[in-house]
Amino acid sequence: MSQATYQGTALVPLADLTPFPGNAKRGDVDTILASLRRHGQYRSLVVRHIEQEPDIGTDMSTARTAVPRRRLVVLAGNHTMAALAEHGPGDCRRTFPDHGQQRPCGICGNDPAWEPAARCELVACDEDTARRINLVDNRASDLGGYDPDALTELLSFLDEDYEATGYTEPDVLRLLAPPPSLEELADTYRHPEDEGLWPVLRFTVPPQDRDDFYDLTASCSNPGDDATRFRYLLDRARADARNPP
Ligand SMILES: [Zn+2]
Repeated sequence: MSQATYQGTALVPLADLTPFPGNAKRGDVDTILASLRRHGQYRSLVVRHIEQEPDIGTDMSTARTAVPRRRLVVLAGNHTMAALAEHGPGDCRRTFPDHGQQRPCGICGNDPAWEPAARCELVACDEDTARRINLVDNRASDLGGYDPDALTELLSFLDEDYEATGYTEPDVLRLLAPPPSLEELADTYRHPEDEGLWPVLRFTVPPQDRDDFYDLTASCSNPGDDATRFRYLLDRARADARNPP
């Protein structure tokens, strides 16, 4: 079985879910929790449903009552599960303003009896496919990018209420006046790893000035490097200034 087969959607108590073993992604649980509280769980977890053979070991008392056990392993949505766990059971007492009214928390609904649970899409697949789904689900979002103009326009509809969007006001200000790109910096400065953002001098001179520059600096310590030639010229100019001929 090299593809995941959809089995159905179910509300599963968090206690019945197993995080993906060895998940390499480190998600931002706080941002997800804020979003879940404000927007509710708009996306299901993707959970691998593993039917296990009943345990028929030496313990006959277990074998008689054994029913097929199942394991539910979260392939995608591990940090949503972590955020729901962080919310914990019961009423968190958070509400959100909505058209002049207060809306309850999107997770617990401000119900004191709420037990942590997640809406899950159950799939069947083999071990190798499970691993690949976990990897690509994390990676595909990393590899994506943004159209900054479209993003700025979307954010402009929020009336500066960025709560639970993952964006802050400084983020939006940076979008409106972005810092120079690395390419733009490299145009003005040397590569940062080379000289620690030293300025680059670049100007146009007549051919004779260029020839004079090379003639007058020919005896510097490293004629192969224009920067050394330039410093040599400066040293000579300073010496002349101290001891006028
Ligand atoms: Zn809540």
